[in-house]
Amino acid sequence: GSDVPHDAIRGEFPILQRRPGESPLVFLDSAASTQQPTAVIEAVADYHRQSHANIHRAVYRLSQTATRLYEDARIAVARLLNAAEPAECLFTRGTTESINLVAATWGRANLRPGDEIILSALEHHSNIVPWQMAAQATGARIRVIPINAAGELLLDDYHRLLSPRTRLVAVNHVSNALGTINPVREIIDAAHAAGALALIDGAQWIAHGPTDVQALDADFYAFSGHKLYGPTGIGVLYGKRRLLEAMPPYQGGGDMIERVTFEQTTYAALPNRFEAGTPNISGAVGLAAAIRWVQQIGFARIAAHEQDLLDHATERLRQIPGLRLVGTAQRKSGVLSFLLTDPPMAPLDIGTRLDLRGICIRTGHHCCQPLMQRLGIGGTARASLAIYNDRQDVDRLAEALADMAAQARRGASTASTGTDDT
Ligand code: PMP
Repeated sequence: GSDVPHDAIRGEFPILQRRPGESPLVFLDSAASTQQPTAVIEAVADYHRQSHANIHRAVYRLSQTATRLYEDARIAVARLLNAAEPAECLFTRGTTESINLVAATWGRANLRPGDEIILSALEHHSNIVPWQMAAQATGARIRVIPINAAGELLLDDYHRLLSPRTRLVAVNHVSNALGTINPVREIIDAAHAAGALALIDGAQWIAHGPTDVQALDADFYAFSGHKLYGPTGIGVLYGKRRLLEAMPPYQGGGDMIERVTFEQTTYAALPNRFEAGTPNISGAVGLAAAIRWVQQIGFARIAAHEQDLLDHATERLRQIPGLRLVGTAQRKSGVLSFLLTDPPMAPLDIGTRLDLRGICIRTGHHCCQPLMQRLGIGGTARASLAIYNDRQDVDRLAEALADMAAQARRGASTASTGTDDT
């Protein structure tokens, strides 16, 4: 329950445990992938040890067990998202495939020349490129919601971009590069008022707060298991039933059909219609275990813990001379993007030096090249938080950065006075 001490929660992650003679791993790259607790690792292993078989069509009981586990996972997903029914929750490989599915099926079937898709300056490439592909195929156009210097969406500009030409608005719930939490409810309402649909990329929100697709009135909502303490290779596309039912299929193959002849095929009902081929059964089992694990801790506790760490980290990093935080939105999730500017140190250098001290962070453009262009930088160093992090992780990062910045300043001043030069 939510009264277990934080050390015990952290203790459930084998990869974070100190090995003899090693210093503990300071893992600050959870925005890329979260680590997995024993409950998830064991659920997947147990599935392979005891329950593995292909699903759906076999008469034998082992296959029926696997089918039940897979469909139970869908029920767990529906509860996590508060979907009206499990059939609205499709399993995919992840957020990327979820968005590609909508762009390739809904997009190609509904977009016409002159139609507009609104994205934001904060989007990940996976919520840009599929729409460009759909736009190229259909003659639709992409419009972009701009941001301010803090990394917040300019909502007045958004409202001005909306028009009868707008068919879909696709934005992330939380920016993976800056941590900005976007006002998705307001964004969705305005899209609907303009007669458009709204897709939310929930990759960076799903592990950090409660999600209610019905309260949001989201038309589509996408996320990845590996950012929710679950396995890679499994993700979800939520879509409203009436929209999914009207969409043409994505991939053709086994499991997605009702009846096939060489002349014609009729398609299966939801959700199978969009799940051609043998799915990632063990991934779904692992995702369900991850959902159970997260729900046991509770989002109230997760959010409070991560907010406390974010505040602490922001304060510590702000005290480091020459460190510039990139992304200072009012509403932020546990993502700290930063640069060392005095003297300048490339993010790649920062990441490499931190790694030598056992600290894992991300460097580069974070799959957000248009955002980096807008900010006028090539990339950032990014530390991101999850429930297993503690103040010690943050302090080790801050101390290492302060140290590196001081060393670089000494190096720069020696170089400029030339005292080394004999
Ligand atoms: N959108 C956002 C906001 C993300 O952070 C990510 C992962 N970095 C993705 C989409 C893509 O997720 P995946 O690689 O799991 O498909």
